[in-house]
Amino acid sequence: MIETSQATDFKAALLADGFTGDLVVATDPEYQASLLRFAKNAQRNAAMVAFVKSAEDVSKVITLVNARSTGPGSIHVAVRGGGHSTSGSSSSEGGIVIDLSRYLNTARVDQERQLGYVGGGANWAAVDKEAIKYGLATTGGTVNHTGVGGLSLGGGLGWLMGEHGMTIDNILQVTLVTSDGSILTVNSTSHPDLYWGIRGGGPNFGCVTEFVFQLYPQRPTVFAGPLVFPPPLLPTVMDAVHEWYAGASEKEAAVVAMTSKGSTGTPLVIAIVFYNGDEEEGRKRFSKLLSLGPIVDGTRMIPYEALNSLQNGTAPYGGNYHLSGTVRGERGIKAETAIQLFDQLVEIASAPGECATDGVPVMAVVWEFFHLKKAASVASDATAYRMRVAHPASPIMIAWQTDGPEATKDAKNRILQLKQRLDEGLKDSFGGGRGKDDTGYGNYEMGNPQATDAAAPLYGENYPRLQELKAKYDPAMMFRSWYPIQPTRVVT
Ligand SMILES: Cc1cc2nc3c(=O)[nH]c(=O)nc-3n(C[C@H](O)[C@H](O)[C@H](O)COP(=O)(O)OP(=O)(O)OC[C@H]3O[C@@H](n4cnc5c(N)ncnc54)[C@H](O)[C@@H]3O)c2cc1C
Repeated sequence: MIETSQATDFKAALLADGFTGDLVVATDPEYQASLLRFAKNAQRNAAMVAFVKSAEDVSKVITLVNARSTGPGSIHVAVRGGGHSTSGSSSSEGGIVIDLSRYLNTARVDQERQLGYVGGGANWAAVDKEAIKYGLATTGGTVNHTGVGGLSLGGGLGWLMGEHGMTIDNILQVTLVTSDGSILTVNSTSHPDLYWGIRGGGPNFGCVTEFVFQLYPQRPTVFAGPLVFPPPLLPTVMDAVHEWYAGASEKEAAVVAMTSKGSTGTPLVIAIVFYNGDEEEGRKRFSKLLSLGPIVDGTRMIPYEALNSLQNGTAPYGGNYHLSGTVRGERGIKAETAIQLFDQLVEIASAPGECATDGVPVMAVVWEFFHLKKAASVASDATAYRMRVAHPASPIMIAWQTDGPEATKDAKNRILQLKQRLDEGLKDSFGGGRGKDDTGYGNYEMGNPQATDAAAPLYGENYPRLQELKAKYDPAMMFRSWYPIQPTRVVT
């Protein structure tokens, strides 16, 4: 913990050292605003927030932390990209936040080389909007206010992954500031060990101030939109989705959500479909689903840059949220299991409790049907991210209104209850449920991503190599807020 007087002293020292961004401490008028996150419950009271303008600014902060530390980890450092971690992994209680979102938040495009240069604190809206001006795009997040930083360093699942693979598969280079303050250019020939490690283990190795992404030609409009169904149709919807998915091309994808409270204020099934092509063909591909009689059919041709905003309304910035994830298998779900799970979702969401004192929380389970072949064509040891052929991811989200730690605890418990029911319920559906090594997708914050033992199961057979890398680049574990990799040689 840094005391307020110490933080003021840090601020003065950084300014004297030529720090060019903004430094905010508890006595500054904009302090509360500087702590804001996507999830209110992920906000923490940092001693100082450093809104950096460059890699050099980041390096100055890290150098000062090293100079003033009384031992490994004595000053907690967090890096904030888009600020969407619901567990608080980009926040710090009493430490220093290196915040990239105020200044390093833009994207620029090299049209000729089809490259995107993206700030470490940008969100996906910035990338999508800039790239499509040149008829280009890459795989990004499906809610476009999500940050490029955390999403890219932890994997990156999105609508375009059937054609272009995961986001990590399109990272060509990063500028990384490591725990000794070095500013490194990391790519396949410069620090190739780190290039391997940051693609999946990213937040463990430093602060990325710039990404260089491979971009691809993208048509200006796509066929996409939501189809809303009443809960009793869930089994029929899932059958239709599985039938479509079995023959889907890499240009198609869908997500199916069961939510305890949709736009009608009642439980709903929402399927969002996507075809990277024209309307006539898109309607053909999803004809079975479209014929089921949705109560709302919002499918239409939309500008490409609107695709990743289709789900923005389900997760507005600044509420209380807890995100977690599980996995689903390849086969269909039995009708009775689907109905049972939906009932359980509604029951868990509407139970009385600490997080329900200001209104009933909203819970949703999302089953993603992205085309996985391209991602799975990369070997599981080619990048730190290994879950290439594992069961597809399935995020679960709870949103609630009551502030405070007790409400957060209650909300997390509800997610745990639901996950248990899902794992049990899906054992005999969805191709047998979760596999032995199937931890799910790290960015969906499985369990507690800050726990000291969280990294080993996530990285599996890639873990020893990551531990070596951690020992080389961050032996004192300055970066330990996201599945903290334990170095092979611990510094005392
Ligand atoms: C509403 C919502 C929708 C989502 N949709 C998707 C989706 O479609 N696809 C998908 O794959 N995931 C999705 N996710 C999960 C998402 O990938 C993670 O929440 C991710 O951590 C968000 O990144 P961020 O930069 O916004 O978060 P932050 O909270 O800023 O950061 C998360 C972690 O990454 C680190 N970090 C962030 N930026 C940097 C950087 N530049 N350098 C070093 N470390 C950094 C932080 O220190 C922290 O540990 C979604 C999450 C939410 C809440």
